[in-house]
Amino acid sequence: MPLAPSKPASMVLQPLTVPTYPLTARLTPAAIASCLALHIANGIDNRADLARASNLSRTTVATGVDFLTERGLLERSTTHTPDGRGRPSDRLHFAAPIGLIAVADLGVTSSTVSLFTPDQTCLGSRLVFVDLARGPEIAVPALLEHLQSLISSLDETYGTVEICMIAVPGPVDARRSGVNRPPLLKGWGTYSLENAFVAALGCPVIVDKDVNLRALGEARTSVPTDLPLILVKVASAIEAGIVLANGDLYRGVEGFAGDVGHIASRAAGDKLCACGNTGCLQTIASTDALVSQLSELRDENLDLGDFERLVGAGDPAATRILREAVRGLGEVLAGLVNFTNPSRIVLSGTVTHWNPGILSGLRGAIYERALPIATSRLTVSTAVHGDWSGAAGALTLALEAIFSAERLSSLSVEDFHS
Ligand SMILES: [Zn+2]
Repeated sequence: MPLAPSKPASMVLQPLTVPTYPLTARLTPAAIASCLALHIANGIDNRADLARASNLSRTTVATGVDFLTERGLLERSTTHTPDGRGRPSDRLHFAAPIGLIAVADLGVTSSTVSLFTPDQTCLGSRLVFVDLARGPEIAVPALLEHLQSLISSLDETYGTVEICMIAVPGPVDARRSGVNRPPLLKGWGTYSLENAFVAALGCPVIVDKDVNLRALGEARTSVPTDLPLILVKVASAIEAGIVLANGDLYRGVEGFAGDVGHIASRAAGDKLCACGNTGCLQTIASTDALVSQLSELRDENLDLGDFERLVGAGDPAATRILREAVRGLGEVLAGLVNFTNPSRIVLSGTVTHWNPGILSGLRGAIYERALPIATSRLTVSTAVHGDWSGAAGALTLALEAIFSAERLSSLSVEDFHS
């Protein structure tokens, strides 16, 4: 049958703006140096490998190496072959006094402060037991005291702290660089962590959500990992860090992306949540909810340690509450899997230490409800870095900041030689 003659559709299109990309006519020496410094931070120690890894010519690599050496950031040492014959080889490494990276990974009841060198060596770390709920006036001086004592315990050839990264267990208000949402942490709503740490350390300070840093730490392991990735932390809040396929974090317009705890879950029924809604995942699956459900059932005043102990001992009530919580979490994550089609889901937080069955329960609940096409390449695992995911993510962000082309271009040769 012949096709009916078509009639031209009238179309009025709003003018588009098609994305254009800036041309890089000439790489600046600082941009070359930035690229090479990050490769050196990743463990490359000679010019030939730098040229291979960066795809730059040997001459361009030489320009970047000279840039870093002239500003006192890079040193060269010569290694001779054991028999003294063959050609001696030059090894490149960061100069000792170029500075330290401090990381404070804050948890509601315990925090970790650590010091790293730019070649990713951890020089020391301390577990600090301070309850953030006691307010910043008590918690921050305690954290700073431990960090300062760690710094003063080091040989001064390591230099001073160049940058400090702070991971906080809750949303970050970018305008105040502090902890937001007072219901989670009383007294922190108007406090600027950034100002307090800058005043004490005299260096730039970057504050970010711990789930964002943990997700970045998992995304940037030396073994290439599959992206996109969603890291979910189950603690007194249930939050996620999202790393996109290009390796960038997804934060959302106000930095609130990843608030998984306030997504509705059928398993939560009509339980009232602190946010004012009913049926939030938070009401059955946060660590506080686990403890309060068991306390109510046993008519006892239990804490998280009790819950962990009872789960470990196979207590039927604690096990059932945990199993229901994992099912609820899996149901919500299945929705996220259908919506975002990630390659990897990482479970993080204290619950991962309790029972290996948690992960298989979560996997089962996700696979049961997510569409098969969305789960065909999905892996569900715990963190590669374990409890160090947050510090790992903080370290990668710190390295990007201290070796950014912008910062390197502000360093002058004269400053180093004077
Ligand atoms: Zn809620």
